[in-house]
Amino acid sequence: MANKLAAGNWKMNGTTAQLAEIDALHKAHPDPSVDILICPPATLLSRLSDATKDSAIATGAQDCHAHNSGAHTGDISAEMVKDAGGSYVILGHSERRTDHGETDAIVQAKTQAALDAGLIAVVCIGETEAERDAGTTLDVLGTQLAGSLPDGIDGNTVVVAYEPVWAIGTGRVPTLEQIAEAHDFMRKTLADRFGSAADDIALLYGGSVKPGNASEIFATSNVDGALVGGASLKAADFTGIITALE
Ligand code: PGA
Repeated sequence: MANKLAAGNWKMNGTTAQLAEIDALHKAHPDPSVDILICPPATLLSRLSDATKDSAIATGAQDCHAHNSGAHTGDISAEMVKDAGGSYVILGHSERRTDHGETDAIVQAKTQAALDAGLIAVVCIGETEAERDAGTTLDVLGTQLAGSLPDGIDGNTVVVAYEPVWAIGTGRVPTLEQIAEAHDFMRKTLADRFGSAADDIALLYGGSVKPGNASEIFATSNVDGALVGGASLKAADFTGIITALE
């Protein structure tokens, strides 16, 4: 059985003042019954990890390089994420795929590096609006899943996030039937490839999750939690989502 996970992706938001939200989050959930993760910008990871040391809130990065060290200006490695106190890393987010040209093969190499460093990889997939309109959503998800995950994974160290590109930051959310179709497909595809390990892979939905729509999304087939952007920046909003998952 996969753990339930409420994951916050702060994206390129937050300077030191943003750390105050973590105090509020910790106070609201001193002993949560679900896993809570915050992935701040890399500049805040170390401080956030220190601030959450005595709490149940895990931290992670939003990307890492496929190599451990070397001449890669501006990048950080999985080992560096771990060293900064992170235990997770988001990989293959659609903004990375679009802004930085990340292919499935690159995401797969990064995922392997993350797993080798002892991190939990949160691997993101999702169709564009044009792909959904063309009726190719499940083909796209199948291709991304096949290409982005390495072989031989332990389901407890991999999380897959289904994030329709057109739902990210737009306030638009797929129907519950569309979410269920995607998540059922992912579970079956993962089971076909990884066998019983697939049962342990948490499947997150991401894209305009808010306190007001979280409960119905979490009640949907094969949804084990959420990857939350905008609504993770304010503790009051993220708390509503965590509570809906508990
Ligand atoms: P959003 O972002 O919640 O702001 O739509 C989700 C994500 O990109 O992970």
